[in-house]
Amino acid sequence: MTFTLKGPVPGFYKELADVVRIFFPEARELDQGGELEIFITESEEGQARHSRATLRGALEGSHGTTDKKQADPILEKRLHKRQQKLAVYFALKAATGLIPPWGSLTGIRPARLVYAQMAQGLGVDQAAEQVRDIFDLSAEKAGLLADVVRTQQSLTQPGEQDIGIYIGIPFCQTRCRYCSFISCQVGDGKLLPGYVRALVAETEAVARMVADQGFAVRSVYVGGGTPTALPPDMLGLVLTAAGSLMRQSREITVEAGRPDSITPEKLRVIADHGATRISINPQTMHDKTLEAIGRRHSRAQTEAAYALAREMGFHNINMDLIAGLPGEDLTMFEATLAWARGISPESLTVHTLSLKRSSDMHRFGESTPREAAVDAMVRKAREMAHDMGMAPYYLYRQKHMAGNLENVGYARPGHACLYNMDMMEDTGSVLALGAGGISKRVYDNGARILRAPNVKDPEHYIARVDEMIKRKVDLLRGVGSGVRRPGERGSREVSLDAESTD
Ligand code: SF4
Repeated sequence: MTFTLKGPVPGFYKELADVVRIFFPEARELDQGGELEIFITESEEGQARHSRATLRGALEGSHGTTDKKQADPILEKRLHKRQQKLAVYFALKAATGLIPPWGSLTGIRPARLVYAQMAQGLGVDQAAEQVRDIFDLSAEKAGLLADVVRTQQSLTQPGEQDIGIYIGIPFCQTRCRYCSFISCQVGDGKLLPGYVRALVAETEAVARMVADQGFAVRSVYVGGGTPTALPPDMLGLVLTAAGSLMRQSREITVEAGRPDSITPEKLRVIADHGATRISINPQTMHDKTLEAIGRRHSRAQTEAAYALAREMGFHNINMDLIAGLPGEDLTMFEATLAWARGISPESLTVHTLSLKRSSDMHRFGESTPREAAVDAMVRKAREMAHDMGMAPYYLYRQKHMAGNLENVGYARPGHACLYNMDMMEDTGSVLALGAGGISKRVYDNGARILRAPNVKDPEHYIARVDEMIKRKVDLLRGVGSGVRRPGERGSREVSLDAESTD
């Protein structure tokens, strides 16, 4: 399906196109001549602005909305855009008969909208209801948002001087076919020593910055890729470099990740460095699916890795599962959930399959389960997590997700990962080390954020690690005067990027 947008504010087209893709995930926007044409017209009457979306071509229909103009230019732009999005959304909803569970929402952090309503004096449930009314969410998704916010409120929130540390190992033994992360295959391993040397240098420099500027390390998260794709000695070098950061941190997560990368030696290294939480990620417990998605491990390997970790004393284990994998139906997904319930991890992260263009599965146009089936899977996961004594504590959405659904982290009381919450809600500052890491300095609980990205390619990262360190120095200087924002002199060299929460 192709579509064309015509309206008075071309600057809104990108987000209007996202609304079209709620209904037609693969739809392609054309400047003209799309199979579906969407015309936005507007008129004003005093302080009232009327927006109307009219559909022609593949679909017919029209929907109008009215809103009050705002004096504040930033708020005015945001609400004006929202008004047009809602006009397009309701026109498409009526014309297609589809009822999207997340309504017109296209953003990745819907809980932020609940917090925005709470800032107006509403309680959690009222705020979630208000979000539901504005954006046409289903009652179920509004309830999920309220539960997430309630859990988050029971957790300690980051202060201005708190900082999270992310250490990225962008290597995996092989590439899963649905993967769109920046992750390289270990291959002959030639890149690893140089990468580890650069990462150790960046980690040590960041440890000095954190100490010099009096930051309190709230969390350390070693992720990837697959950190356990490194041999044990190299993993040990990275964790040793992070020693002073880890010793003062409230929590230390090491994403062991793929079960085929986990060995007793690597788990020993992780335990000896004081990790408080690890993640072992089966995604599914069906060997046939694992083979189809190119995850080169088996159910038996997941079971063995989990048993080994328990035997070695790990008492906070997370497991990642994916709903909507190709060839899986609700019964198969339920079997994976039942297995997880049987072995009783402390937390579960339930993703909905997201096939980005860079994944093999997207390139080969492989089909995934129907939306209704994926919806039933995520609902079942929520029920099962509840039965296991877990509450949802973070939630985010991505583009290209099966059924236009969500990813949710569930945890038993006392086992939520603060790093995940801070990161996903954009409420905590993070220094992200390694190729592809994006550091951010968060002000006023997420109202203003400065970012400093590292280069993505591991070879470039190795060659330019000193520059990556310098970017972090500049980012932290943003605490005082001298922050370089986009458009200001020197901003290109520093690559800082400011954005607001909407
Ligand atoms: S283990 Fe994760 S990061 Fe590595 S290839 Fe698979 S999906 Fe990608």
